[in-house]
Amino acid sequence: MRFKQLELSGWGRTTAAAVSAYRPERISAAADLVRAAGAENVVAYGGGRSYGDSAVRTGGAALLTERLDRILAFDETEQVVVCEPGITVADMQAFLVPRGYSLPAVPGTGFATVGGIVANDVHGKNHDRHGSIGDHVCWFDLLMADGTVKQVAPDNDGDLFAATIGGVGLTGIIVTVCIKVLPMPSNAVQVTEMRVRDLDHFFELFAEHRDRATYSVGWIDALARGAKLGRGVLELADPSPAGIPDKAPRRLRVPFDMPGILLNRLTMSAFNEVYYRRVPDGGEVSKKSLTAFFHPLDALHDWNRLYGRAGFHQFQCVVPEEGGASGIRSLLEEISASGSASFLAVLKTMGGEGRGHLSFPVRGYTLALDFPARAGVTDLLQRLEDITLDYGGRIYLAKDSMMSEAGFARMYPALREFRAVLEHVDPKGLFMSDQALRLGIRGPGR
Ligand SMILES: Cc1cc2nc3c(=O)[nH]c(=O)nc-3n(C[C@H](O)[C@H](O)[C@H](O)COP(=O)(O)OP(=O)(O)OC[C@H]3O[C@@H](n4cnc5c(N)ncnc54)[C@H](O)[C@@H]3O)c2cc1C
Repeated sequence: MRFKQLELSGWGRTTAAAVSAYRPERISAAADLVRAAGAENVVAYGGGRSYGDSAVRTGGAALLTERLDRILAFDETEQVVVCEPGITVADMQAFLVPRGYSLPAVPGTGFATVGGIVANDVHGKNHDRHGSIGDHVCWFDLLMADGTVKQVAPDNDGDLFAATIGGVGLTGIIVTVCIKVLPMPSNAVQVTEMRVRDLDHFFELFAEHRDRATYSVGWIDALARGAKLGRGVLELADPSPAGIPDKAPRRLRVPFDMPGILLNRLTMSAFNEVYYRRVPDGGEVSKKSLTAFFHPLDALHDWNRLYGRAGFHQFQCVVPEEGGASGIRSLLEEISASGSASFLAVLKTMGGEGRGHLSFPVRGYTLALDFPARAGVTDLLQRLEDITLDYGGRIYLAKDSMMSEAGFARMYPALREFRAVLEHVDPKGLFMSDQALRLGIRGPGR
């Protein structure tokens, strides 16, 4: 078995873990690693697009899934696709869209893998309408701690199914997945963009449109204060019956770590102002390719290097609908007063709970934004966690790098059921990440 010693980090690059990396080409080779692991911890590493430490275990083995990337079957009558976990979302879309289908939940980056999106039960811009990816998983094959592979479906092992959807890799390695796909008439969406004056205006527009538009996403200037607090741009979209010519996406690259000093209140406010004014007063309608609409940031390769060597933290929480508007206002007030936000915050509606014990969604509003890793950010993130808890919300594991163990336990009430499944399927705690240890999901005494 050939290992390579690597330093791996999450997308935020705030910490790097020294791991023994193994990149199998066959599921049987992945099983060999699990059988040979002994006392060493193992965790799957997909596209590395989670921001924190959920896909790494310092001193452990990283099972890189990138070469387990085959599409195994596509049944147009049943509208299901069966694939290995390492195929990226972009490659899956490149297969599905020309055939008239799409993944039912598409995250904001095409570099995430199918295994990774199931393990975080990800949501797209259509959560109100179509839920998260776990709602569309028919079954998966799971490589278990004893080296065997088990097919898991809601009706043959509902507990293991619920623990694995959004289970951040802790029940085992997903080696095959069957997903029900969504009909998609073309490669394009019809997009309406409108300027949003302030936060109240955002909530008015959400109330008016969330049941009508298939996709919606709000971009907020998180540095705006006072009467302008919460101003931004709302994008609403529906599948377009007619497509647009396929163009190879133009990809730029950030060639080196930018000096962190370039991202300051002045430069970010100027960027946000330009973004806000880009949309005319009366709004704008246009047709965009699915790729440009779903993955706007992918056009700039390695954009995480814009934050410099120290990296950045992403914060994403969801607050339940009841009290949600004032929860989001409190969060934005805290954020704008800190002056630490960068680029644009994303505000979306969410439709309901996921099927996993640790699924993130709750019906309400989700807010996401980045903070450069600088002095004071730890305290700010703690205050945001406290506000999230005050409003009965939760922080997303895919984005977390700093959540407290106590806060996590309060946010995820099905943690007890989740731990009971782990105790049963992996009593020795083979599958382990730095995040699981940090949050006390698994570890000494668990
Ligand atoms: C620019 C950007 C935009 C994003 N937008 C969204 C969004 O709109 N909505 C959203 O929900 N998320 C979003 N995310 C988060 C991202 O979709 C998730 O973090 C996703 O899990 C990343 O997949 P990955 O393959 O990179 O997984 P990794 O980051 O490599 O791993 C994530 C977790 O999945 C586990 N895992 C990976 N593969 C397997 C496997 N085969 N079996 C078992 N466990 C596995 C890992 O152990 C780890 O716990 C975004 C991230 C970025 C960088």
